[in-house]
Amino acid sequence: MNRLREDEAARLISDTVDSLGGEMVEFLQELVRIPTENPPGRYYPECARAIGRKMEEVGLDVQYVDVPGELLPVLAPHGEALPRPSVIGKLAGSNMRPLVHFTGHYDVVPAGDGWSVDPYAATVRDGKLYGRGSSDQKSGIAAQVFAIKALRKAGLDLGGTIVSSATPDEETGGFAGLGYLVDRGFVSRDNTDYCVITECLDVDKICLGHRGTLWLEVETRGKQSHGSQPSEGVNAIDKMLDLLYAVRHEILPGYNIVSRHPVMPPACRKNTLTVTMIEAGIKVNMVPPLCRVSLDWRLIPEQNVEGAKESLLALCRKMEKKDPEFKWAVREIMSVKPTLVRDDTDVVKAFQGAGQRILGRPMDFSVSPGSDDQKFVVQKAGLEQCIVYGPGPLVLAHKADEFQPIDDLLTGAKVMALAAWKLVGVH
Ligand SMILES: [Zn+2]
Repeated sequence: MNRLREDEAARLISDTVDSLGGEMVEFLQELVRIPTENPPGRYYPECARAIGRKMEEVGLDVQYVDVPGELLPVLAPHGEALPRPSVIGKLAGSNMRPLVHFTGHYDVVPAGDGWSVDPYAATVRDGKLYGRGSSDQKSGIAAQVFAIKALRKAGLDLGGTIVSSATPDEETGGFAGLGYLVDRGFVSRDNTDYCVITECLDVDKICLGHRGTLWLEVETRGKQSHGSQPSEGVNAIDKMLDLLYAVRHEILPGYNIVSRHPVMPPACRKNTLTVTMIEAGIKVNMVPPLCRVSLDWRLIPEQNVEGAKESLLALCRKMEKKDPEFKWAVREIMSVKPTLVRDDTDVVKAFQGAGQRILGRPMDFSVSPGSDDQKFVVQKAGLEQCIVYGPGPLVLAHKADEFQPIDDLLTGAKVMALAAWKLVGVH
């Protein structure tokens, strides 16, 4: 095997991905047409098998991993006991290591309203492929599979191993998806050198982490009475208003700092606490005995999720002391610590170099405003060399008329292929 220079490899990869463009678009269309809506998690086996079939065609050794039935209520409580398969393909080079693992989620959020095209028709128009999941992030899965196909077709001998996996459930936390693969040791420091999450974080950005997430359900309890005699009752909505006012004026000012990390979009470079649901009241002439709100609190990498929750609990205790009628409960729905990896590791440098060559300009760094599956690999598996890179545009995720620019799909596959070639080395 003669040693290729990097510029020669880049040209070869670029031409080969271009020659595979039509086939890659067809594969992404096939995936978008399988409506893997989560919750509850429909058509997962069909989608996992479609990805597995393509990986077999590319020449990978393919394995399916199912979550055992008894773990489904724990790992996927809103999953209606539907199956949660992951699929893993492996292409061994002349050595087992180094090993680079590309992984993406194949579940999508429900289509919702406001579409001008059928969200599951995968219509291609003006260089864009429309559909739920086209950007977030079936595009990443198509790019990672075709990056490997391009390396093989171009005849580039690899020194190490490339793994490509697709998992379910990221949109509901990922515990039955990549979380389960990490729990079972499929991704660990012992078997993996580099990991790339192919989420839609823009084709020209290397994403180093994500903000922390704290989802809480907060309840105030009052006493029911006739609406004409409110003095006979305790109004739970009033108590909730007191609490939310105190949160805004006593807690949030202490969280009002701007992150020095490049969270995208820039408006998210601070903590955001959003009241997302509210539920209270029985009838127009009844004092409400119960009020329940959901809070979606996102914290920047400089902030601590546990501390945030504790500050809310402390505020509730203080209010209870001042007002004996203030009855409350706080339930944690989910909490995820922020993730942030270093920007000078080999995996980062490989993607910076590959991006510069393919795009012709430097890649930017970003940090995701929401959490994603990177948390499992960095926080649970302890693998520092894990970044997020995928061709989907971040701002289109979860919107009506979501689309994937086809140019970006090809560019993403080229960057992934060249970076992988650099990371696993040449035979
Ligand atoms: Zn996603």
